[in-house]
Parts: sequence; structure tokens; C-alpha cells
Amino acid sequence: METPDDRSDALDAAFASHPRDWRANRYVYPVLSRRSGGLSIGVNLNPDKACNFDCIYCQVDRTIPPIVRTVDVEILRRELDDMLALALSGRLFDEPPFRDTPAAYRRINDIAFSGDGEPTASPQFLPSVRAAIACKAARGADAVRLVLITDAAYLTRPAVREALALMDTANGEIWAKLDAGTEAYFQQVNRPNVPLRRILDNITDAARIRPVVIQSLWMRVRDEPPPAPEVEAFADRLNEIRAGGGQIALVQLYTIARQTAEPYVRPLSHVELDRVAEHVRRTAADIPLRCFYGAE
Ligand code: SF4
Repeated sequence: METPDDRSDALDAAFASHPRDWRANRYVYPVLSRRSGGLSIGVNLNPDKACNFDCIYCQVDRTIPPIVRTVDVEILRRELDDMLALALSGRLFDEPPFRDTPAAYRRINDIAFSGDGEPTASPQFLPSVRAAIACKAARGADAVRLVLITDAAYLTRPAVREALALMDTANGEIWAKLDAGTEAYFQQVNRPNVPLRRILDNITDAARIRPVVIQSLWMRVRDEPPPAPEVEAFADRLNEIRAGGGQIALVQLYTIARQTAEPYVRPLSHVELDRVAEHVRRTAADIPLRCFYGAE
């Protein structure tokens, strides 16, 4: 019997391949995700590839010009409905690169607002959440999660709050990026448009209402692994979020899997990522934590 631990070369290739284009679709694409333990249906709300962060490890290829720059919610809804039908019927797994997917992964885990920038920066985020909830309901796919992958800079905007409240009624989850514990390192790795304090306040605010998953990417920068004081500061920030009333469902530690924006950025080895995890566990002992190695 196949399990999620079965690793074939073809499967590894499918995990490593996260193209955001699928056939003639503009916004919706399927991804096989080790982290999700199944299929994640991505929704790209930033086809113009613009982002409010400029992470040194960003894996969005901005050398290829965008095909469309705006989001048409009606087209997005049709693409999502077609993709749900394709995946729910199993026909998606007859097509490359999904043919070699083991049985344990032949499930739809989530619809994820992710893509080539910050989803909540899009004025179409709220209507797109409404459309995704309607598609799930129409296909009887209540168990499919609705995931927002976010840099957390805009979580307190009124329209975003409204969208998050809707997601709460539809098996929603927030996966918030937090890659640093100090302002200096935050500026170095994320090159953001807001200070770290804003990100921490926004995550705490959202996490008071529902548990939030923290996604944290660690890497070698100019051949140096993450400084131990930075990892400890990161763990301190996690403790502060909890002390402020925020609930943390899980901290996901991971590293780079694909080509990065800056050439001086490299993935951590398994041992180095485990060392980051040990540091975090030492300071934030009772926060659930999981490491993901290599391709997702
Ligand atoms: S937030 Fe995401 S899309 Fe934006 S620069 Fe960072 S990694 Fe790239």
C-alpha cells in the first residue's frame, strides 16, 4: 500500500514542480503538496506579479512578463469550479505530472490563495473568497480547506477582516509568513513595505479570533546559516504573540526548494533546519512545530 512517505523520482518531480500556469487558466492551478499531504488548488490573485515584500528568497519568476494583470472574478470562479470537478472526479490524476501520485495523496486538501504576490493586496480578495466558498458548496466539497497564504501586512484592513470572517465559516485557515525575530533581519530577508511591529500586531490580532499557522523560511545568506540570536528572537516573538492572546496552531519551518530572487541565498541542510527547530523549541517549548525539508 502506498503511503505519503513513498518517494519516486516522478513524484519528487511533481512535488518540486509548482508552475502557476495550468492549460489556458489565468488564475487557478493545481499543486501536489507534501506540506498539505495532497492536492492544493492554488488561486493566484496577483497575476501582475507585484508584491509589497521583495524577499531575497522569492521564487516567483519575474523575468517572464505577466499574461494578464487584473483579476476577473467571474473567470476565476469558472476556472475554480472546473478544477474542483476535475480533481473530485479523479480525472486530474490521469494527466501529467499527476499520474504518479500515490493513492494517499489523491485527495484535495485545500484551495489556497497564494500565487505571485500578496493575495490580500488585491481588491478582488473578498469577492474571490466569496466565489471560492460558493464553488465548494456547489460541489459538496465542504471538507476542502480554504487557505490564505499571506505576509500579514494587510490582515487588519476592513475588507480583509470581512473575508477572513467568511473563511472562518468555510473551513478556513491563515498561514502567515514570519521569517525573522528582529527588525534588522526582517529588513534584510523580506525587504518589506511595513515594519516588523505591524506584522506582529496583525498576526496577533488575527490569531485572537482563530488559530493561525506560522510559516517560517530559513536559509543560508552569503553562505552563513541563520544566526542563533535571530532564531531565539524569532521564538521570543512567537511567545509574544501567544502572550498577546494569539493562538498558534502550528509553526512550519522550511527552506528553499527552487530558484531564488538573489543568487547569494541557499537552502539549509536537514541538519541546519533541525538546529533552527531545536533553538525554537528551547525558547517556545509548547508551540507545535514541524519541519519541511526541500521541495514542498
Ligand atoms: S511575500 Fe511571497 S511573493 Fe512576495 S516577495 Fe516574498 S516570497 Fe515573493
